[in-house]
Amino acid sequence: MNLLRNRWLGGLLKARWFPAAAQVLLLAVFLLLVLGGLGVTATDPDLTQYLRDTNLANLIVWSYWWPVIILAAVLFGRLWCTVCPMEFITYWAGRIGLRRGVPGILKSGWVVTVFYTLVWIVGIQTLAVNRVPHHMSLYLLLLILVAVDVSLLFERRAFCSYVCPVGHLLGLYALLSPLEWRADDAGVCARCRTRDCVAKRNHYRLAGRSCTSGLYPAAIADNRDCLLCTQCWKACPQENVRFGVRRPLADLLAGVELRPAQAGFILVLSGCVVYEILSEWPVSLEIMMWGPERLTRALGTTGALSDLVSATFLFVVAPALVLLMVTALARWACGPERVSFGQMAKTVTLLLLPTTAGAHILKSLLRMSSRIPYWPGALADPQGIETAQAMAAGMRVPDTSATDALDPAVSLIAMALLLASLAATVLVFRRTAVRQRLSPAVQAVLGLSTLSYWSVFAVMIVCWRLGS
Ligand code: SF4
Ligand code: SF4
Repeated sequence: MNLLRNRWLGGLLKARWFPAAAQVLLLAVFLLLVLGGLGVTATDPDLTQYLRDTNLANLIVWSYWWPVIILAAVLFGRLWCTVCPMEFITYWAGRIGLRRGVPGILKSGWVVTVFYTLVWIVGIQTLAVNRVPHHMSLYLLLLILVAVDVSLLFERRAFCSYVCPVGHLLGLYALLSPLEWRADDAGVCARCRTRDCVAKRNHYRLAGRSCTSGLYPAAIADNRDCLLCTQCWKACPQENVRFGVRRPLADLLAGVELRPAQAGFILVLSGCVVYEILSEWPVSLEIMMWGPERLTRALGTTGALSDLVSATFLFVVAPALVLLMVTALARWACGPERVSFGQMAKTVTLLLLPTTAGAHILKSLLRMSSRIPYWPGALADPQGIETAQAMAAGMRVPDTSATDALDPAVSLIAMALLLASLAATVLVFRRTAVRQRLSPAVQAVLGLSTLSYWSVFAVMIVCWRLGS
């Protein structure tokens, strides 16, 4: 089925003003959110704890916008990128910029992986960009600054393709999506003389641009890199593009080849998602923090340095050690027909993706439902300082009746997501085992490791949601 043939959707996506008008509108919202957080800060940790939810801008960015785009990526692909205001900024910066060739280090993908890791370790865990509204605003402004600089320097859509951690994350989740953007008829592309969808002369047109993500629609192999920007469809005189429905997980089942930096990205991502889910329940949080707390005590670190050490351990060191162990064990189980270490590590990380995505969606739902009680206060006092002070002093208590009412449904969805992740993992695992001709011993190592990863979430969720 080609959704572009739908009169309403096709009409909207084909319009010359789309997505530019939506991007301009969202840019205005983006700037309002930045303004909503600027200057709103607190030194008292108790107050910060409340401020993250009482400040309207912070509440929208971290508890609704971010969860919604994660969910959308798994369901529809990089849908956020279609209307992302940053893409609009990068386009205009690119038009007037130097248009230099993109260096190999950016193309390798390691820059975006390191950027994502720093966002977690320094931005979120140390500077609390997700809790202090002022820091959130500075973070968003930093993203704009980096996007403009990269786009002024390098040709095409360099920021979106090689630097933006949001787009990179969404691209990985888009591998699971039941939708794909592809050429409709490869024969039409083969006979095409103008190649408007890739022609350099069309790179900087506002509407009907050729692909500045370096893709040729007839050769798109998977969902990672396509921004669903609709430009190649507008450029194509034959309208030979399909936004079609396919089997969920299709790219994973087809054996998508991860780049080394993407395997590193998934590794850090899995550490972050484990942290996000386990920190929902005090019991699992205490268990998870056992190692980092002993480490910081042994090193004698305190304050921000302690946060830095803990975060590095949780998001980089611990996942890397587990990956090294599993990969080494799987290679040893290969016997004489050894696969390279890198290849095996990529296989292991790919198998983590369905469970990671399921857990990430679950975290998103938990966050959205748990923050409902803060809406009345945030709407009445958008800055949120007075509301946070009243809450910290115990003079105001959020009304949790709506969240409580949703609780059974959330528990049910949590169980369904766990089972769906398990089923998806088993499917991908079986297909990978056949395609890579994995021996029974290797299958046992990889199967047990993947199941253990899934069990971390399953045991915690079952004990937390059903036990309390
Ligand atoms: S890659 Fe990043 S900047 Fe580009 S469109 Fe996607 S989210 Fe926006
Ligand atoms: S393939 Fe088409 S829709 Fe995808 S990023 Fe390129 S121009 Fe945009």
